[in-house]
Amino acid sequence: MKKYIFVTGGVCSSLGKGIAATSIGNLLESRGLQIRMVKIDPYINVDAGTMSPYQHGEVYVTNDGSETDLDLGNYARFTNAPLGQVNSITTGQVYQEVIKREREGRYLGRTVQVIPHITDEIKRRIFLAGHDPEVDVTIIEVGGTVGDIESFPFLEAARHLIQELGKEQVLFIHLTLLPEVAGGELKTKPTQHSVKELRAIGIQPDILVCRAPYALEQDIIRKISLFTNVEKRAVISAYDVKSTIYEIPLIFHEQKLDEIVLEKLNLQSSPAQLQQWSKMVDTIKNAEQEIKIGIVGKYIELHDSYKSIYEALCHGGIAHKTRIHLEKIDSEHLDTEEKLARQLDPLNALLIPGGFGQRGIEGMIQAAKYAREHKIPMFGICLGMQIMVIEYARHVLGYSDGDSTEFSPSTSHPVVSLLEEQIDVKMYGGTMRLGRSETVLQEETHIHRCYGAKVVHERHRHRYEVSNTFREELGQAGLVISGVTPEGALVESIEWPDHPWGVGVQFHPEFTSTPINPHPLFAGFVKAGLDFRNRNET
Ligand code: GLN
Repeated sequence: MKKYIFVTGGVCSSLGKGIAATSIGNLLESRGLQIRMVKIDPYINVDAGTMSPYQHGEVYVTNDGSETDLDLGNYARFTNAPLGQVNSITTGQVYQEVIKREREGRYLGRTVQVIPHITDEIKRRIFLAGHDPEVDVTIIEVGGTVGDIESFPFLEAARHLIQELGKEQVLFIHLTLLPEVAGGELKTKPTQHSVKELRAIGIQPDILVCRAPYALEQDIIRKISLFTNVEKRAVISAYDVKSTIYEIPLIFHEQKLDEIVLEKLNLQSSPAQLQQWSKMVDTIKNAEQEIKIGIVGKYIELHDSYKSIYEALCHGGIAHKTRIHLEKIDSEHLDTEEKLARQLDPLNALLIPGGFGQRGIEGMIQAAKYAREHKIPMFGICLGMQIMVIEYARHVLGYSDGDSTEFSPSTSHPVVSLLEEQIDVKMYGGTMRLGRSETVLQEETHIHRCYGAKVVHERHRHRYEVSNTFREELGQAGLVISGVTPEGALVESIEWPDHPWGVGVQFHPEFTSTPINPHPLFAGFVKAGLDFRNRNET
């Protein structure tokens, strides 16, 4: 029998429900079970692709080109479960499907309603995500908090599952917050209320995961247990971690969370194998050195906007036992030589991430110029690579109006321009060049040395590309076209000549990096930063 675990949240958002859900997935995998992860986003958008990073953080792209919530990135970093379109469910998708069927006349004259038609479609999608025969457990994270109007149909569908499949097949884990008030006391009332809310819709949580600044003491656990009908051993402390979120599966394991889950679901498994994971956590905690990496972007106020990049940098650090000190630099404020020098001189390396729209572009171009001229290791990702090309065209080729047609449609030197197939696109959702595809690398380049392979596969999400009209000229001026699509039609990566490590990629390596398998480009970039620091110190 397949098992289902729902992870819900109460009290407020941003408690780390995604990390809790994926940590449980990590522990079950460590016991040899096959899992699948699903994120439910109760918003009406069909997917995250059209949303600003300020709304929900970065858009995480899967191999099949789905534009999903950033929690899928957490699933990818903590588990080996495959991810794609079926692992992300939104209200928009569910309604789109039900309305399509209604228009096709497939409801045979019946009134189409939230219960059972919407809830049935939700269940169909949950089953689809875990349908492979080898899958033991599907973990479903329900976005938002219990009590939100939008979440209701999803929780109702979850309740139906208990009735249909039986109590032993469906488990509910509820994440709550214990706020600390003046005097250091932890308050349990918000937890009591949010559990009451869940019970009002017919769901009794089996396990509570309680966010708090420190581990819960026995009397608090006793009190929570008494008021919520959750047994004491199933009240788990998710206390703030100091050094790394990758410690959370270990903290849960210490409190026997995985054992309790297995027992309640009546599942057998082998013992947890956490040696490799613990070793990785120790490497992070005991880093031997530190480097400063600047991120020059326009969404830097919100950490979640560049979530996978920050994590991939941490992974690159793990590969070299190095702690990464992030300097988040708002490109809009890099408008004078003095500011550039003040912000960039202390850095050991610089990264320009992806992005859309004109705001902040000039500061990024100036930062790229500074890194090229001062030989600071530089990594440009997607928009970051396009910036490196624009900068090269302006300052090496001498095309002072060199630009991307995304920012300057009338420039006489459009060195970055729309992909051919994008010219007539009017619908913006899901229409970029998306998902995994092949890149062929040139030998004797930094990128080839990092991968140690000639053919690589990476994920894409862009509308613009390096213009083929200017490709040859850029090459003659020294810019190395280090990677192309298999028939050579599109530029996939570039490098600065005579520079210790100036690499730009059109794709997104950050999405496939994990703490156990740091992405080779991030590992190579961190190494270049370490070398730069060592050269400058001696
Ligand atoms: N805005 C650029 C494009 O559409 C870059 C996209 C990105 O950085 N993801 O091509």
